[in-house]
Amino acid sequence: MLKTTGIHHISSVVGHAQRNVDFYASVLGLRLVKKTVNFDDKDRYHLYYGNANGSTGLTTTFPFSDGDEGFVGAGQVGVTAYATSSNAFVFWKARLAAFNIPYFEYERFGKKRIGFTDPDGLELELIEGEFDQSHSWSFDQITKEAALIGIQQAVLYSKQPEETLRVLTDVLGYERRAEDEEMIRLTVNDNLGGALELNKKQRTPGKMGVGTVHHIAFKIQEADLEAWREKIKQAGYRPTEIKNRKYFQAIYFREKGGILIELSTVRPGILIDETVEELGGTLLIPPHYAEQTEEILAHLMPVEVRKISKMEHYGYRDRYEYELLQRRNEMKKAMKWLKE
Ligand code: ZN
Repeated sequence: MLKTTGIHHISSVVGHAQRNVDFYASVLGLRLVKKTVNFDDKDRYHLYYGNANGSTGLTTTFPFSDGDEGFVGAGQVGVTAYATSSNAFVFWKARLAAFNIPYFEYERFGKKRIGFTDPDGLELELIEGEFDQSHSWSFDQITKEAALIGIQQAVLYSKQPEETLRVLTDVLGYERRAEDEEMIRLTVNDNLGGALELNKKQRTPGKMGVGTVHHIAFKIQEADLEAWREKIKQAGYRPTEIKNRKYFQAIYFREKGGILIELSTVRPGILIDETVEELGGTLLIPPHYAEQTEEILAHLMPVEVRKISKMEHYGYRDRYEYELLQRRNEMKKAMKWLKE
């Protein structure tokens, strides 16, 4: 029987690109493993975060500095949870506090967790879990041992939880493992990224926009692409054509609970155009936009991975405003010097 093998990536709509990098790469210490532009919208970044060699499930973001705010709710992925060693919980509580990020601690299904939100309102969680840390990314004060190992699971907020449960078990291959008053825990395997939690409660419907998850992708094998399309159709859903996303091939469908699901091939993977050392270092323009490279670079705001001690105020939305702001700051500095 066809089965998915865990979370391939989770993609969200976010606000300011540099703030997104500052939060995910600098505060949380994920590695920025791919910097490209949206395949369908060349004026927006598409940023990918993962571990040192990009071998875990990827967190991908579409930054819209001027986008409309969304609401997290039914029909969406609610919480993205990253595994970290339980020994690292003390470190993470201190780090979140140092960046003035409110958090709460709780336990569910025997796992300790820390919940918080990102600067755009996306719900995140650290969940204790012992997994291979040999490819964890060390950044700033975050050691390999304390690092977020990778996406372990997601919490789904469905408009029709019974329907979503049916898709997870009958189509994607998940098995029910545990249940409490609020959640059903499912797994497809015991590997990192192999778990999900489905919220049984009816939440207010979400609204797509900045600060919400756009879709969740599950891993499949390339040879099974056509068989998967057939299986999805048989189950009563309408899959898209097979789409080539350069790093993987993908099929999308919206399940009846409202969640947009993607099935993505493990190959060829993100090492197809960069070595492990090079990952995320350069802006990679998709081939179909190659001729517009200069125009793209003139418009996109610069982003960089940097060590920070606090999240700043980001007073620009594109490269033009960024450069104006830089000039204004230079001028202010000069004026200050004149006065002294
Ligand atoms: Zn995707």
